[in-house]
Amino acid sequence: MKTIGIIGGMSWESTAHYYAAINRETAARLGGLHSAHLLMESVDFAPIAALQSAGAWDEAGDVLAASARRLEAAGADLIVLATNTMHICAPKIEAAIATQFLYIAEPTANALIADGASRVGFLGTRFSMEMDFYTDRLRKMGLDPLVPEVDRTNLNAIIYEELCRGIVTEASRAVYVRAIEGLAARGAEAVILGCTEIGMLISDDDSPLPVYDTTELHAKAAVAAALD
Ligand code: GLU
Repeated sequence: MKTIGIIGGMSWESTAHYYAAINRETAARLGGLHSAHLLMESVDFAPIAALQSAGAWDEAGDVLAASARRLEAAGADLIVLATNTMHICAPKIEAAIATQFLYIAEPTANALIADGASRVGFLGTRFSMEMDFYTDRLRKMGLDPLVPEVDRTNLNAIIYEELCRGIVTEASRAVYVRAIEGLAARGAEAVILGCTEIGMLISDDDSPLPVYDTTELHAKAAVAAALD
């Protein structure tokens, strides 16, 4: 098995889910006591979040590219950046390493396309919903992404003020369910949980649309690539 390198900590709550999902998938595929061979560099999220708020994406990209280089030097055969939002910096990270970089949107888009979906809802941070880097990538892969027309500030606040701090409430679940209902009413056939913490709040049981959780799909793709 190849060594998976995870750039984590954004937030550590969701990175913990990556760790569990990668190991669970490895055990499911290899059986017995098998677990993943992985390296992780977990960053301090506070300075990264401050760079996000300042729009200092270049500087944030330098921090993450340096992290990717350290993982590569330590022996990682493929790199996983465990956050959707920070894929804004993916070009900088990819340019800094020779190692394979597994872009988070790809396994998600592939799963949707395999299931025959094309018009899909997308929920994530305000950055991911309002900047083009992510939805453009989905469009290039043949999907027609829709982001919520209302409540984006609230959806974003729930991520940073609650989920990234391990807080899960019924009130916030209701806000997300309402957003998914709005996307369904506009013709979405499925919804992408395009932020690595949303799976803490929403599952198929809560959602009026089938959910595609980027954390789970990215983790599974990392294992598939590591076993390839
Ligand atoms: N984990 C989140 C994401 O997938 C949000 C935190 C961040 O800004 O990195 O977008």
